[in-house]
Amino acid sequence: MLVRGTRSGEVAEVLETDDATVECAYCAADVPARDAAAVPPKDEDEAWVKLRNVHHRGCEWVATRAHRL
Ligand SMILES: [Zn+2]
Repeated sequence: MLVRGTRSGEVAEVLETDDATVECAYCAADVPARDAAAVPPKDEDEAWVKLRNVHHRGCEWVATRAHRL
C-alpha cells in the first residue's frame, strides 16, 4: 500500500493502516486513510460533521460534500 506521509512525519514501517493518512487534494489536510476511503452519502450529516473535523476549515471538498451539493 502506498502511503503519502504519516502524522509523525517520520519514515517508519507501516504495518497497519490505522495510523496512515492521506493528503486531501483540496485542503491538504492529513486525513486518516480509513476516513478517506469511503465518501458518505451527501445527506448523512453526522458523517460529514466528522469529516469536517479532520479537514481544514473551508475545505471545498467537505463544503460541497464531494461536489454533490
Ligand atoms: Zn479537505
